[in-house]
Amino acid sequence: MANMEDIFKKVISHAKEYGFVFPSSEIYDGLSAVYDYGQYGSELKKNIREYWWKAMVQYNENIVGIDAAIFMHPTVWKASGHVDAFNDPLIDNKDSKKRYRADVLVEDHIAKIEDKINKEVEKASKRFGDAFNKEQFVTTNTRVLEYKAKIETISKRLYSSLEKNDLADVKKLIEELEIVCPISGSRNWTDVRQFNLMFSTQMGSTAEGADTIYLRPETAQGIFVNFLNVMKTGRMKIPFGIAQTGKAFRNEIVARQFIFRMREFEQMEMQFFVKPGEEMEWYKYWKEERMKWHLSLGIPKEKYRFHDHEKLSHYANAAADIEFEFPFGFKELEGIHSRTDFDLGAHQKFSGKKLQYFDNETNESYVPYVVETSIGLDRTFLAVLSYAYNEEKLEDGSERIVLKIPQVLAPIKVAVMPLVKKDGLSEKAREIIGILKMDYMCQYDEKDAIGRRYRRQDAIGTPYCITIDYDTMQDNTVTIRERDSMKQERIPVEKISEKIRQSLKT
Ligand code: ATP
Repeated sequence: MANMEDIFKKVISHAKEYGFVFPSSEIYDGLSAVYDYGQYGSELKKNIREYWWKAMVQYNENIVGIDAAIFMHPTVWKASGHVDAFNDPLIDNKDSKKRYRADVLVEDHIAKIEDKINKEVEKASKRFGDAFNKEQFVTTNTRVLEYKAKIETISKRLYSSLEKNDLADVKKLIEELEIVCPISGSRNWTDVRQFNLMFSTQMGSTAEGADTIYLRPETAQGIFVNFLNVMKTGRMKIPFGIAQTGKAFRNEIVARQFIFRMREFEQMEMQFFVKPGEEMEWYKYWKEERMKWHLSLGIPKEKYRFHDHEKLSHYANAAADIEFEFPFGFKELEGIHSRTDFDLGAHQKFSGKKLQYFDNETNESYVPYVVETSIGLDRTFLAVLSYAYNEEKLEDGSERIVLKIPQVLAPIKVAVMPLVKKDGLSEKAREIIGILKMDYMCQYDEKDAIGRRYRRQDAIGTPYCITIDYDTMQDNTVTIRERDSMKQERIPVEKISEKIRQSLKT
């Protein structure tokens, strides 16, 4: 685990050092859980967004895209339930003045007990050597069983108290477990309170006339309120989908793990409107389709898994996460939810407008059911980046850091390098880049020895480097080097574009 933590730290510092992700307003010491994307990061992010958009909108006749505003009528968030229920339980330590999510404090305590189980397993495995049967050990060893029972009791109590909104009991649980503040080490806690995660601001020129509005905490509501507009103007027939990418804002109490949990982030969501009764079929369909999308990037399937929700929100009748193995473990990357008619039904009630679909075949109107796919763009960025980061020992004993970013997502597709700066080689390189840049993000580099230039491109994940040498001037051929294999071959200038195009097909 320590090793993975180490790698995660390296990924974060690499992201900064090579212009992928910077802390926001860094010259003012940053802003907690807010990040800026740099020159390569913004390209990678854009490429992920486009890859998603193509798969969802361009390749599906019955899915269209929209771009709704971040500001919405305040009643939207009443109808969606966010004003009343988009809360996290928080608790403050009176000595350190640090704020925590009460459920996370308890979950961290559970994680410590899990660590104890792991230690027991490790010890026993050393003691018994090859004869060790882990399955048998964890189901029979009395100490492990005691720990497991403890975990079971604690989680049951936590989740049932949270469900009942019995915050006094959550505090009691924290006290009984003798959980201390990691900073002050004290058990001097405030009461547990619900904290709404929405950011609010004022709209209107004067404070008196001002109306409280919210920065949207999810993009989905922009789709629901435009359901009627899109259906009518696009002459959409059920089943059909509306897709959108855009910023969302959540005042996360515990914001950590780099761009995994941010206060300002970007979502890519698609709401698929179906006939009531057909939602489970479509839910299964989208679960599979979305997993296929992830795997199409060429990242091994072992890095992904489904997590089916057993406890469902009151409006959902099925929900699953696609989890990715980040350096800090398997965590949610995308959610697929069958949301019934909850959202359209609520907006119909609050707005007084009929949000229904008229079925020509049955001559009936109904409020469609919704299956949604909801993925975090920044989390996908982190998944790709942490998978791509590789430290390699080469045959000649040297080392390189290479980002094996799926080629279709790479920020720069091709770097063009004259071997030397004289004898017309630079001009030839510029001429080649002039053609390639019409189709691909290119970079020109003539500084330092060629080996160092290759390393720089490896570190930002550029799939191809093209070198112009004296032979190029004679026969119009170049050396093309591939990032992962480091193989080099000689090809005519006219073939470069085709070669890159082939490799970008996934
Ligand atoms: P979590 O349980 O991790 O808070 P969630 O279940 O609240 O996530 P959803 O509301 O389903 O998340 O949002 C859909 C997707 O948006 C998530 O799968 C995730 O990829 C992304 N996402 C949600 N919150 C954040 C955040 N604070 N920072 C970055 N991405 C986020």
